[in-house]
Amino acid sequence: NLSDRLERSFKILKGEGRITEINIAETLKDVRRALLDADVNYKVAKSFTDTVKQKALGQNVINALKPKELMIKIVHDELTSLMGGQEAPLNLSGNPTVILMSGLQGSGKTTFSGKLAKKLKSSKGKRPLLVAADVYRPAAIEQLKVLGESIGVPVYTEDGNKDAVQIALNGIAEAKRNHQDLVIIDTAGRLAVDEEMMREIEAIKNAVKPQETLFVVDSMTGQDAVNTAREFNERLDFNGVVLTKLDGDTRGGAALSIRSVVEKPIKYIGTGEKLEDIQEFNPEGMASRILGMGDIVELAKRAQELYDQKEAERLQEKIKKNKFDFDDFLNQIHQIKKMGNIKELASMIPGVGKVIKDIDIDDSAFTSIEAMINSMTPYERHNPEVLNQSRRQRIAKGSGTSIQAVNKFVKQFEDTRKMMRAASNMKNPMKMMNQLK
Ligand code: GDP
Ligand code: MG
Repeated sequence: NLSDRLERSFKILKGEGRITEINIAETLKDVRRALLDADVNYKVAKSFTDTVKQKALGQNVINALKPKELMIKIVHDELTSLMGGQEAPLNLSGNPTVILMSGLQGSGKTTFSGKLAKKLKSSKGKRPLLVAADVYRPAAIEQLKVLGESIGVPVYTEDGNKDAVQIALNGIAEAKRNHQDLVIIDTAGRLAVDEEMMREIEAIKNAVKPQETLFVVDSMTGQDAVNTAREFNERLDFNGVVLTKLDGDTRGGAALSIRSVVEKPIKYIGTGEKLEDIQEFNPEGMASRILGMGDIVELAKRAQELYDQKEAERLQEKIKKNKFDFDDFLNQIHQIKKMGNIKELASMIPGVGKVIKDIDIDDSAFTSIEAMINSMTPYERHNPEVLNQSRRQRIAKGSGTSIQAVNKFVKQFEDTRKMMRAASNMKNPMKMMNQLK
């Protein structure tokens, strides 16, 4: 399966240092093949591996991560974005909110209807009404009634009425009368895609205009799940997908394929037969699951955090001893630059964001500072207090700046140093940025 394949392909990556085109070529080929075998569309698989390659090659291996771990992290992040990147919550507007279930027989529509009613009742304080619009099998209506009873949610049924559209409309009217703010319509499915079923579900959709039309699919059906999703989407233009039977260690390659073929978000997953077995779909969690290596991805993240933390502690120690020098300063600048666009970063600081947007700061703000530090001798960098006028003159020349600029910077540096020692809390690089002004 997909997970095993990916796992094997990562095993090839060994050693330390830089990721090169050569040492990831095999891995990328394997990843691509594994995706194709899991029914991921050819173009999607290709652009997926291209992106991974680009991202991998651009990176120096950070101290704490080995190439293999870094690759896994990159693939993990790409899988996440392939599956939509973030959670796709239900649209719960409307009074009542109407949610229509669609999908083949046995996919888990009725079960999921019950699960969702229970969940939204307890977590959102909704007052749901379940509507039994599966009119062909008396057993189906009975099943929904039993479900409703077990979760304390009323079920709307009409004995003998075979008009699913009418029942759906009547159900909504009933909900309005009883001030129920959520209507979940369970419908009939067939064993395979079938014209009559499609026409019926289409008619229900057109009549009730639901906030959400959900396509429910059994994740264990593989390639079939993808084809069925495509057919339902063409007819229904549904809003989201529910993947059921993702229990235990079913690893959900279907999640990748479906998302890439129909371009609709997966909103929920069913993870068991019990009514509690429902989860909002989380692309990142699913990426870990497909990789079968949640622990390694976690590890990679923690390694990075640990590295940052150690660095912060080291600086803290230097600041306390007044040993913070130009090299540390330069390091911090690099650190800040690595975090991305400075303006963007600054705009995220609460309160300052709006003001800073109009001020002209960008990476180039640091260019002359970097040039000055680079023009210092190692001795000068470690001992800022030795910078007399003649040394400053030389630095100004070497860096292509002016003596005034050097004086200003050295003064700023001294001030910053003093302030930092006073604050003596360097965990936050934002602080440094504010002091650079
Ligand atoms: P429907 O025909 O689409 O309404 O499907 P049902 O809701 O009746 O479900 C068909 C079968 O799948 C039932 O036996 C359910 O208990 C089972 N089922 C539904 N969802 C899940 C799930 O997430 N995990 C497991 N293991 N079984 C499920
Ligand atoms: Mg059913």
